[in-house]
Amino acid sequence: MIYDPQVYSIPDEAMKPFISEDEIWKILNETPSTPERVREIISKSLDKKRLSLEETAVLINTTDTLLVEEIKQGARELKEKVYGKRIVLFAPLYVGNHCTNNCTYCGFRTSNKEQKRSTLSKEDLVEEVKMLENTGQKRLILVYGEHPKYNPDFIAETVRTVYSVKQGNGEIRRVNINAAPQEIEGFKIIKESGIGTYQIFQETYHREAYERYHLSGQKRNYDYRLTGLDRAQEAGIDDVGIGALFGLYDWRFEVMGLLRHVNHFEAVYQVGPHTISFPRIKKASNVHLDEQYQVSDEDFTKLVAILRLAVPYTGLILTAREPAHVRDEVLSFGVSQIDGGTKIEMKAYSQDKKEQDLHSEQFEINDGRTLNEVMEDLIHNDYIPSFCTACYRVGRTGEHFMEFSVPGFIKRFCTPNALLTMAEYLEDYAPEKTKIKGYVLIDKSLKEFDDERFKNKLCERLEKIKAGERDLYF
Ligand code: SAM
Ligand code: SF4
Repeated sequence: MIYDPQVYSIPDEAMKPFISEDEIWKILNETPSTPERVREIISKSLDKKRLSLEETAVLINTTDTLLVEEIKQGARELKEKVYGKRIVLFAPLYVGNHCTNNCTYCGFRTSNKEQKRSTLSKEDLVEEVKMLENTGQKRLILVYGEHPKYNPDFIAETVRTVYSVKQGNGEIRRVNINAAPQEIEGFKIIKESGIGTYQIFQETYHREAYERYHLSGQKRNYDYRLTGLDRAQEAGIDDVGIGALFGLYDWRFEVMGLLRHVNHFEAVYQVGPHTISFPRIKKASNVHLDEQYQVSDEDFTKLVAILRLAVPYTGLILTAREPAHVRDEVLSFGVSQIDGGTKIEMKAYSQDKKEQDLHSEQFEINDGRTLNEVMEDLIHNDYIPSFCTACYRVGRTGEHFMEFSVPGFIKRFCTPNALLTMAEYLEDYAPEKTKIKGYVLIDKSLKEFDDERFKNKLCERLEKIKAGERDLYF
């Protein structure tokens, strides 16, 4: 049926695209920051309330160092209060780097003739997954260039292959996807293979900047990309991840764009995106970007704290693009997922590549720690590393929202499941030294459960894991 404005009289307001540059700049330019407002807004967020665009702009416009520190402290408090000490771990797995798009910031772009192109065969994929399982990984994100080869059937087949690989006690229990936007039918095919989150980053929410960086190919179409996750929703994929690539345009605009995108999902589907990613642009093969919009460490850490406060119940993902010291700082603001033991070169896990070759990968990573080194550092800093996939597997979708809004959810599900999956890791993959430190942390965490009956149940399951049982969860 064709929309007839005479019949439905949808107000003009509702027909506007949900990203309006003028609106975002107007709010940013006309919303001053005062210490009173900043403090009021931080308290609102600590009261578990979502921030409006205007309130977020107040935080963005705060430049006084002491007030910025209060914003960061607010994010730390929110994390402590709501999320506790868990950090979920995953690894990226690049399936193919052929690409028909021309994104000027990416080593895979079609015009980069020096990029060595390949697609993992089924056997290659199995080898990569075995290597990942051998290090203890349980959650992967599969990454693809945009190319007719990587059609929905191909993507679905790679997901099924990954789930089918079992090596010792190893198995991949959740496969997320970062790939091109699809048509609704395509998303349905991919959904059928049992994916977790489907991520599409808008890169920049600023239309004109978008056109400057996306020179040709399907991705040049800003609207097709922006509406990609709406088509995913229509296909039944309600677990989606949004993101912006920081460094393409003014970071303040991008934070507002992300928030506007969250608002859109909440308004239309009554549920926000599962995760937000905020990669900063890094060196890549034959990429020469001007530095005008590069985001300093200072602004980056501030923007992560602002995102945490603005959308308190959305998962935040931080990747190995960032060096360990930046990762350490922003972990304390409530990042919920990080990658560990990351390699992004094609076949890099099975070939155990140590050095990066930018001509066979997308960009430079800055955290080369192994998964065990990341685990050790997390444990050392009192974080509980988690490989939990329970909610997704028992159909508790929207778990971030539940963690946030259901009293006791974290104590009843997330923390115990984190401890159980950590114990599996310690038993199966950790060197003795890590195992000892890990069990000290488990014992310490157990003391924090005051419900004795529940604690006993959890201890029983931990004993079962020591005795060889696997995949136990609440
Ligand atoms: N080809 C698909 C696409 O573009 O959506 C799949 C994702 S791409 C392989 C993963 C993400 O990497 C992109 O969405 C982009 O945000 C990010 N990326 C690309 N080039 C980058 C660079 N030089 N530094 C950091 N991140 C980059
Ligand atoms: Fe291709 Fe994605 Fe790289 Fe763009 S960002 S060139 S679509 S792989």
